[in-house]
Amino acid sequence: MTLLADLFIDGMWRPGGGGERFDVIDPSDLSVITRFAAATEDDCMAAVDAAAEAQTSWAATAPRERGELLRAAYDVLTEEVERFAEIIVRENGKSWSDAIGEANYAKEFFRWFAEEAVRIPGEYRLSPAGDKRIVVDRQPIGVSLLITPWNFPAAMATRKLAPALAAGCTTILKPARETPLTAAYMVEVLRRVGLPSGVVNLVTPVPTAAPVAKMINRPEVRKLSFTGSTEVGRDLLHVCADSVVSASMELGGNAPLIVLPGADMDVTVEGTLLAKMRNGGAACTAANRVYVHSSRHDEFVERLTAELAALSVGPGLDRSRQVGALVSIAERDKVAALVETAVSEGATLVHGGKSAEQGAFYDVTLLTDVRHGSGITRTEIFGPVVTVVRYDDVDEAVRMANDTVYGLMAYVFGEEREAMAVAGRLDAGMVAVNRGVVSDPAAPFGGVKQSGLGREGGSDGILEFLEEKYIALTAH
Ligand code: NAD
Repeated sequence: MTLLADLFIDGMWRPGGGGERFDVIDPSDLSVITRFAAATEDDCMAAVDAAAEAQTSWAATAPRERGELLRAAYDVLTEEVERFAEIIVRENGKSWSDAIGEANYAKEFFRWFAEEAVRIPGEYRLSPAGDKRIVVDRQPIGVSLLITPWNFPAAMATRKLAPALAAGCTTILKPARETPLTAAYMVEVLRRVGLPSGVVNLVTPVPTAAPVAKMINRPEVRKLSFTGSTEVGRDLLHVCADSVVSASMELGGNAPLIVLPGADMDVTVEGTLLAKMRNGGAACTAANRVYVHSSRHDEFVERLTAELAALSVGPGLDRSRQVGALVSIAERDKVAALVETAVSEGATLVHGGKSAEQGAFYDVTLLTDVRHGSGITRTEIFGPVVTVVRYDDVDEAVRMANDTVYGLMAYVFGEEREAMAVAGRLDAGMVAVNRGVVSDPAAPFGGVKQSGLGREGGSDGILEFLEEKYIALTAH
């Protein structure tokens, strides 16, 4: 398979100005897939120039035309979904079913926002005093910098590209260094369907921080949409403050999963597997801490252990495996260290707990007797590790669930009325009741507290890339 591994600036693929390249590694065997062009600061400035040059004409393009280009990209990605998934697997390491799931989810953002492009709302009304007509128009915010992480290299990019392009904004996409190939493939699809030059640009600056800050501080750049860790998001908010750039932040999570006394155990075990093992646990929405009522604890642990034992960990291109590799040896070692510390602090290792000899694989793992407040309940695990905390009182479970600086996602399993009541008390931007997955392009995705600012997807996603303009008319 030929893989694009260059920068895309002003409608052209080209190497970085400094001639440097960096390795893109296959985490399943640590082989070098290819060497990707490293962008210099000048390349990043050229990308901003190209996006700024294209902004006026792209904003003036008919919404229907913008929508049709996005729809055409959706159609190509549908036709090429296996190729799309294969690129994701090779550089990210996830399982085949996770990659197909991500490819399908990712392309849906193009279809959803193709339909939203033609429904941008405005207002027209008489002022309370009756002296003027208030017209509120929504206009594209302008050149948008989109920064994405490695864990969902396709979906995190389309969740930003699709609404930005639908709104009439030109874009600069900066993927994670571990996973630039998926981004390059999607940008090429947008070129193939006829997106004009300069409307989407792709840069991979090495090192990263200084060129990114310089891009944010160019006056033409009016929006930063970032998905990644809370630490980096916080630093970038400081950078945005310097030139008062609008920022949307999708940051880290530490999702609790509460099993109530009345939970249906079939639904709960199946939901927990999805909430935890999807993407090998490397998801901001992954259930990080499972709080199980004492009356159901042993049954839950026994049933879950049996399900975990049936999962096979291995290379994503082997379609029989359910769990793939972590993105790098460094990520695998972080997970291993968290488990080791938890065990040294008194947790019981019920299943798994080992790194593979070769490749960035870590066993599916189950820890019980975990103490709420210990390190593993405070940190995003980002690996296939279930941690179980026992509780006796539902109020106590809610208190522990909310005892985190994060507030992205939460899960509740139980009798529906009780589960809904608990869902209402959880500090999270999203709550799944009796199910393991919530993500849907048609629903608002985002967090509270230190999990972020703003929402992606749904009908709000496009608003992040639009600015309101109030025009006053004299009423006659
Ligand atoms: P990261 O913060 O290390 O990197 C994210 C992106 O920022 C990458 O493109 C990276 O190259 C870039 N970056 C890193 N340092 C930078 C700097 N100083 N200046 C500018 N850019 C910089 O995150 P990651 O390890 O790639 O991804 C994992 C994190 O992402 C987890 O915390 C996870 O919870 C979070 N995440 C959140 C969501 C969400 O929607 N809330 C979704 C997926 C992942």
